Amino acid sequence: MADDRVTAEFGSLVFTDADMRKRLPKPTYKELSHVIRENRPIDLDIANEVAHAMKEWALEHGATHFTHWFQPLNGITSEKHDSFITLQDDGSVLMAFSGKELVQGEPDASSFPNGGLRATFEARGYTVWDPMSPAFIKDEVLCIPTAFISYNGEALDKKTPLLRSEVALEREAKRVLALFGIEPKRVVTNVGPEQEYFLIKEEDFEARADLRLCGRTLFGAEPSKGQELEEHYFGAIRPSVNAFMKELDDELWKLAIPAKTKHNEVAPCQHELAPIYEQGSLAVDNNLLTMEKLKLLATNYGLACLEHERPFEYVNGSGKHDNWSVSADGRNLLEPGPHPEDNLLFLVFLAFLVAAVDEHADLLRASVATAGNDHRLGANEAPPAIVSIFLGDALTPVVEALIKKEHAEAHEDELMDLGVPALPDIFRDNTDRNRTSPFAFTGNKFEFRMCGSQQNLSDPNVVLNTAVAEQCDRFCEYVAARSDEDFYVVAMRFVRHTFRDHHRIIFDGNGYAHEWEAEAERRGLPNLKTTPDAIPALIDPANIALFEKYGVLNEAEMHARYVSKAEQYAKLLNIEANVMVHMARHQYLPAIISYSGDIATAVATKAELGIDAVVERELARTLTEGVNSIYALASELDDKNTAAREIADPGERDNEYRDTVIPAMEALRTAVDSMETICSKECWPVPSYNDMLFYV
Ligand code: ADP
Ligand code: MG
Repeated sequence: MADDRVTAEFGSLVFTDADMRKRLPKPTYKELSHVIRENRPIDLDIANEVAHAMKEWALEHGATHFTHWFQPLNGITSEKHDSFITLQDDGSVLMAFSGKELVQGEPDASSFPNGGLRATFEARGYTVWDPMSPAFIKDEVLCIPTAFISYNGEALDKKTPLLRSEVALEREAKRVLALFGIEPKRVVTNVGPEQEYFLIKEEDFEARADLRLCGRTLFGAEPSKGQELEEHYFGAIRPSVNAFMKELDDELWKLAIPAKTKHNEVAPCQHELAPIYEQGSLAVDNNLLTMEKLKLLATNYGLACLEHERPFEYVNGSGKHDNWSVSADGRNLLEPGPHPEDNLLFLVFLAFLVAAVDEHADLLRASVATAGNDHRLGANEAPPAIVSIFLGDALTPVVEALIKKEHAEAHEDELMDLGVPALPDIFRDNTDRNRTSPFAFTGNKFEFRMCGSQQNLSDPNVVLNTAVAEQCDRFCEYVAARSDEDFYVVAMRFVRHTFRDHHRIIFDGNGYAHEWEAEAERRGLPNLKTTPDAIPALIDPANIALFEKYGVLNEAEMHARYVSKAEQYAKLLNIEANVMVHMARHQYLPAIISYSGDIATAVATKAELGIDAVVERELARTLTEGVNSIYALASELDDKNTAAREIADPGERDNEYRDTVIPAMEALRTAVDSMETICSKECWPVPSYNDMLFYV
């Protein structure tokens, strides 16, 4: 019966294609399907009919309001609710919703980050319906996925460039496919975002200002136990978490989000959710909705969901793997088939990816650069800040042989005899997975693993789509310039030259090893360790030219994105520094002073009795030194933060935060954490790592 429930409820809160077919007059439905499939503008008559049907459907599902749901540059989602009511002359109300309201909204753009675009243009912004992503109901509100643009049509959001990059990739890939005699109706990207997150007790979350305000712990001594026993990964899921995950699945399924896999992750309290992949921009929308649901539903179970890239030191942080492929009318162009060495179409697309990633490693790195992700990239469990590609045992020999002008066969899948008759023999997966690679080929897709857990996946996908579109375009030009030669010979030569010229980006070794850093440097691969190092790539003239050429982002938009990212970095660090100073002065210092006072009193009392309290005296002295040092370090952090905040140039400001504020934060943390290890549990003002990470 459970199956019936799931199939019946799947998509019940989404205005699906089936709903549209049922509710729209046939010609309208047909026209709308064409608009969606061919990605062209919709006319107002059609919009009016769609709006009416959508409203009727929404009212039947209990909706009272509608909203244009969009993704401003801060990466989260925004909504403003308007009710459907209109007043009649007789004072009664009517529930109405017009095509114009469906197609276009007008939020005040001035309150959203815009990276300076607003300064040069009008403050007005428009939200524009994206008919490719279906409308859905959330808390009695009909949500209409939209793009957010300025008065002059500049993108003010994450979605617009993603849609534009999908258009560019589709156009260029179709040119390539035409050379192979393939003429698909649609070429789309497929994206499967694996989402990691932590769940801790809500009471612990509420008891810590750092978690509430910054989403991560800014203090905390090393727990007695970490993840070294490797017992959490795939471990049995604790009942409260299990109950939460069940409701989460139900809620996501109602929204037609194909949640598929859930499991415990490596760090204590860490979990992962992976959906079945979907068309790129829809997958990004659905990942954002998933992140929202994760946070909201956790509170029903007395839990708090942490989506930050590094909520806790000493254990793994959280990422989001961007599984990416491109397909033509359902045919995956990255499917190697049994003989990739002879699969020219596959080799051509593989070559596109290798070249795209090598040429635009800086942009890929910039697309995942945030203050939060800086704590993760290069740390032990995460891919390094160096971008490289892993191809695996099956493909590497093919590529190497091609470069040497040889013909090598890919490894056959190996049949493994497990030595136990009752167990069936299995095939060894051809894509032995190098978990340390930031950009890995895993069977029939690439997996970009540098993305941060709380980031909107638009940015990395915009870069990937555009960079691959550029390679498609180059290939077509290469072929056109050699039209007197046999196409297959020319294409093979292109593939061989591409692998040869971009060989340096392919790395199958351990990405976590120190030697790799030196080796990467020898190969000339960029190693952009921090956000301030990475984001200037967004205003590199060559990169601006790339995005302009393919109609994805113009110079002003790129500049706005750079400024917005730079500002975001400084703002986040400013908040973190403020919270640290606040916690030090208002929580840790009073607690330690009071505790050291109690001990000093004990020393004095014992002295009156003629007892020399050696240990207590020593402890009181150490605690007092700790108080002095915390007091001084908090002031120092405060001063450095104030100085950094006042720097006008966003790039310089970020550098100052990285070079002076972050070290001051680290120094203050070390001082406080060392006191935590010697203070009594009773006096400590916040839950410890032991408390938070190991609850029952
Ligand atoms: P893991 O990396 O944990 O081994 P899987 O191989 O099961 O994970 O897949 C992870 C994600 O990749 C899932 O969201 C899945 O739907 C997605 N995925 C699988 N095939 C493709 C594809 N061809 N294109 C894009 N994403 C894909
Ligand atoms: Mg993965």
